[in-house]
This record gives sequence, structure tokens and C-alpha cells, in this order.
Amino acid sequence: MSGIHEECGVVGAFSLQHENVTEYLYYGLLSLQHRGQEACGIAVTDTKESEIDARCTKDLGLVTEVFSNETLSELKGDLGIGHVRYSTTGACVRENTQPLVLNYCKGKLSLAHNGNIVNTGELRDELIRTGAIFHTTMDSELIAFHIAKNRVHSKSVEEAVFKTAKKLKGAYGLVIMSPRKLVAVRDPFGIRPLCLGKRGEMYIVASESCALTAMGAKFIRDIEPGEILTISASGLRSDFSLRQEKKAHCVFEYIYFSRLDSCIDGIKVYDARLKAGELLFKRHPVDADVVVGVPESGIAAAKGFAKASGIPFDLAFHKNSYIGRTFIKPSQSERALGVLMKLSVLSDAVRGKRVVLVDDSIVRGTTMANLVKMLKEAGALEVHVRISSPPFMHPCYYGVDVPSNKELIATENTAYEINKIIGGDSLEYLDTSDLKEMVCGLPICTACFTGDYPAGEK
Ligand code: SF4
Repeated sequence: MSGIHEECGVVGAFSLQHENVTEYLYYGLLSLQHRGQEACGIAVTDTKESEIDARCTKDLGLVTEVFSNETLSELKGDLGIGHVRYSTTGACVRENTQPLVLNYCKGKLSLAHNGNIVNTGELRDELIRTGAIFHTTMDSELIAFHIAKNRVHSKSVEEAVFKTAKKLKGAYGLVIMSPRKLVAVRDPFGIRPLCLGKRGEMYIVASESCALTAMGAKFIRDIEPGEILTISASGLRSDFSLRQEKKAHCVFEYIYFSRLDSCIDGIKVYDARLKAGELLFKRHPVDADVVVGVPESGIAAAKGFAKASGIPFDLAFHKNSYIGRTFIKPSQSERALGVLMKLSVLSDAVRGKRVVLVDDSIVRGTTMANLVKMLKEAGALEVHVRISSPPFMHPCYYGVDVPSNKELIATENTAYEINKIIGGDSLEYLDTSDLKEMVCGLPICTACFTGDYPAGEK
């Protein structure tokens, strides 16, 4: 799959026994790299120092490119936060990297954000009305400035965070570092994931549980939608004042974004993808000789399809994992070449066979057309395409970068027409009504398939 990107991942750690957290944050960010590959950063502070300051290293690049032993050794502290970012249109500049660090009335405030706020105009207007000359439209920066402004008339940083969060519309998983506290906040719908773990006396918050595993921590629980969790020297305290009845967890976290070994809101990502494959077979069965999946995100759904149908599963593609990223916006023809460079067919798995090809989504159709062609050139007799999500028809306003409507093949074409374009023998999608069963009844956001936006539109 290509063309849809998660925008960010966040992590935070506070060692109550004053252990250095920097290396743990580094490993946490490495395990969240799939959530953003264009920029990253770590900010730390040492709560033992009498004059507490925040030190921050951030830049464009992968975690392994931005951080070296040397940079990590300069970043010692017992409290810290980190961020990986995938930037959208034209915003791949160093100024937009996170964590954001700003001076406020109590010293330094640092913030890392996963998600997207839809009422940035209101937030900016309020800052301008109250006398702050402020021209940014960047949602994370607006949140940080509102917290700093509210802190002046609040008893604590968490109170300032609460006053700010009350005004936010959209999706957010926030980690905030004040001089002596780590605050984690999840939006009331629970759109973006955020969880809590513990390693000895170190508390950790992260976008996905795979980061806790990488940091040697035990998963404690998901941060609840609408929860403000404060971690300080005196322990943990939660405020649920923002909580509301309606929840809407992003279903695409299960379909594609999150790592296969993560567990979000009580549902294992691997189990959800297996289930999607099973449901896909039940709704759209087909006679075939082998089921194959597109690496990596189509493999689990292909296994589910094979399990439900009794058709053998096999690996049909070898993926070259060493192809680097390209900062050049690829054209259609370059994308086609990219597919050939990334994937090659294991011909023996498909030659002379009727093949079911499973992937998580079709965005522009270019990648799928190439995969079908590659399988047929390798000797497949038929290629029946099964997609473990409904057609992608609408933009996401909650922190996911989706190509424009006119680039989404499903907005202009029916499944029948798309099948003609990609050269398949049949094409079927998972039904929208099956999504809830895929995640065992969890309340979900499905706006990119239905256009029904739970937290408002931009
Ligand atoms: Fe997730 Fe789609 Fe909702 Fe965006 S619109 S939060 S990608 S389900």
C-alpha cells in the first residue's frame, strides 16, 4: 500500500528514581518510526537540578540519522518527551519539527503532538484578541501557546492543559513536559492512540504499545479518551473532566497504521487484521488455488482470508527492506518503478494458479495495477483482488495525510471500474458494516470511508 501516511508518534518518560531516560526515548522513537519518517526529536530535563532547563535535539531525518551516541550523551535527564513526524504538503522544514520548546512563566514548556486540530482559526483568533501577536497556523504551536497563556492564571500545569484542551476540536495525543511533570492527554473521542507503561520506577507514555515493549516496559493501560494524566515525583493523577459518551477510535490504526505487534484499546492489531481477512472471505468468496498478501500490511488479512476459506496461504512477494526513502515527490511512472524496486514475485507460488491477492487498501490504483501485472507475468492464471478496508473516499482531518480527493481512485470509479483499471479478474472490498466486527464492537471513526466526521471538519 502507498499514499496514506500517519503523521506522528509521541513518547514520554519520567523516572522517579532519576534514571537517565534519553536512551529509552530513543528506542521508543525507533519503534514508532513507522508513524513518521521525515523528522524527529527528543527534549529532556533533569528534575534534580536547582535551575531546571529543557535541552532539545531535533531535525529532519530518521531517528538513526538525527541521533548519534554523541548527541544522546548530551541529552541527559530523568524526564523527557520525543516525537517522530511525517510532514504534509510543503511543511518538511526544520521549524516544524517537534518537540516544541517554549519559555513560559514557570521556565520551559515542551510539547509533542500526534493528531490534528480542526479549529485552529478560533485558537489563533483568541490568542490575537488577548494581545499575543501570533501568526502561526500550526496546531501544535497554538496548543503550546494556549497552555503557556493559561498557566499564568492556573494553579498547576495540568489545570492549564485542561483549560486548553476544553477548547480543542479534533484529534490529539499529547505529551507535555513542564519543569517537573509529564502530562499526557488524549482527545475525548480517543481518535489517536496513547498508552501508559512502566519500567521499574519509570513511567512511560507512548502512541503505541510496541514502544513500551522496545523500552523494556510493561503495558499498564490505554490512556482513556478525555483523560489528562499527570506524572510527577508524587506519582500519577488522572483528571477525566473532558470525558464524554461518544468515542471514535481511528479504525485505520488497525487496518494499516499501527505496528502488527501493538495492542490498542484492548484490540490486538494482528487479530483485527486476521479478522478483516475472514470477514472479507465470508462476504466475497472466490474459487482459487492460493491466497497471497502484499507485504507488510496485507499479510495478516491474507492469512485470515486463507483460514476462513481453506485455500492455502503462500508468500508471493519478496520485499527489499533496504530501499531508502525518497524526498522527491514521485510521479506516476516513478511510483510504478518504485513498486518493482521494492517487491519481486516468487514465481513458484503463483505460476499456473488462480490467485487471491489481499491488500489493506487501494489509494491511487497504481501500485495495485503493477502488482496484478507482476503476478500475471509470473504465470498466475487469474488474480482476484480483495481489499481489507472499504473504498477510501474522503480526506482525513484528524492527523492522517491522504492524497487529494481527485487522486483517490474510489471517488471517481466504482469497484467494477477500478478492477478494469488495475487489470484484476475480480475486485471486492471489506464492507463498512464489517468494520465494527473487525474490532470486536469498539466505537470507531470511519470518516475516510463514510464522510461522517465525529469531531468536526476543517
Ligand atoms: Fe482514521 Fe479515517 Fe477517521 Fe482519519 S478519517 S481518523 S484515517 S478512520
